[in-house]
Amino acid sequence: MRHITILGATGSIGTNTLDVIKQHPESYTVFALTAYSQMERLIACCRYYHPSLAVVANAKQAEEVSRGLKGKMLKTEVLYGEQGLIAAATDARVDTVMAAIVGAAGLKPTLAAARAGKRILLANKEALVMSGQIFMDAVHQYRSELLPIDSEHNAVFQSLPMDYDRNLADRVRRILLTASGGPFLNHTETMLAQVTPEAAIRHPNWVMGKKISVDSASLMNKGLEVIEAYWLFGVPANKIEVVVHPQSVIHSLVEYIDGSVIAQLGSPDMRIPIAHALAYPKRMTSGANFLDLIRQGSLTFTQPDSTRFPCLDLAYRALDAGASAPTVLNAANEEAVAAFLGNRLRFMSISNVIEEALETVAVTQAKNIEDILEIDAMTRRIANRFINQETIH
Ligand code: NDP
Repeated sequence: MRHITILGATGSIGTNTLDVIKQHPESYTVFALTAYSQMERLIACCRYYHPSLAVVANAKQAEEVSRGLKGKMLKTEVLYGEQGLIAAATDARVDTVMAAIVGAAGLKPTLAAARAGKRILLANKEALVMSGQIFMDAVHQYRSELLPIDSEHNAVFQSLPMDYDRNLADRVRRILLTASGGPFLNHTETMLAQVTPEAAIRHPNWVMGKKISVDSASLMNKGLEVIEAYWLFGVPANKIEVVVHPQSVIHSLVEYIDGSVIAQLGSPDMRIPIAHALAYPKRMTSGANFLDLIRQGSLTFTQPDSTRFPCLDLAYRALDAGASAPTVLNAANEEAVAAFLGNRLRFMSISNVIEEALETVAVTQAKNIEDILEIDAMTRRIANRFINQETIH
């Protein structure tokens, strides 16, 4: 029996994870569920999964959830705040942590899980992007196990040899991350200048949270994934390439030096990588539809267009600059996306804000997580200055 904590249980990944667990009650039990704003949903999940712990953002919410669970014969303890999240991620009774909080807010609990030596199923790519070296050092030092949930990285993981952490550079020529291209793949620049948040969050292939949907539309999601792949697989940036594949059937590919290309395919359903990582190294059913290649018909591939979608190049630039640049990229992007979703910034200005932040914030070497958080906070202040200027014009 595996004991699971789901950080971000009320989100898209959290919900899919609970769905897979529900199909295998003999193998998985939920230890802790965390939520940030959706209390009703959290209460419903607690009633169904009976976790030992539920974590929310503040004391008022904790009271609300405790009230909602009263009289239900549940022994769910309700905690709140950062310490609550860290308790959920590190409790001795937990062996596996699904890291599915969106954005920088997931960093501390996910890092705490690594330091507690847990098996981490990593969806929260922003945590790795903003603190790559520190995070990976913690994973190695505390013998945590990191399994990728992002469908692309899960596909790469499945396409690599089992002993992939040794001599990968000698064997692998390229890692090819596929990108759906998002809802605006065929938009002209004039059309992109007018897109709304509602249109940006309607992804053609995946149902996801708002932030990653906007990232997907701007191609910043792929940029964050390039940085994520760099840290997860230890290959240099010039060996990580992106190919646009609108059908989202091939989830990514590894090209070896002998010319062999190994890929993972499947329906676009996050329950597949989630079930893979939960059961690893075994396999189990996920509830996803099986891939019907005949019905699928054709698969197509094109190069990403960096003129209409500059965010991908900005991510490569941040990775090349190294040190704190990816932290700056991530923080500026989070602020720009929030401003776009709040109708305070145009879609095409997201990349301007990120570029200006990268040019303004000096690249420094963070020594610890406090340094990372300081760079993150400073970048957000600077990004908001640019956001206000962009909005005025
Ligand atoms: P959602 O927005 O659907 O869910 C986010 C979760 O995090 C919710 O449970 C939310 O709680 C919680 N949360 C939000 N803000 C905070 C905060 N400040 N503190 C604590 N918890 C918070 O996002 P997704 O599930 O789509 O994505 C989650 C992560 O997984 C992201 O990093 C994303 O990039 C990654 N990912 C997602 C994929 C997908 O298909 N959705 C695919 C690959 C990666 P509440 O809802 O209660 O407010």
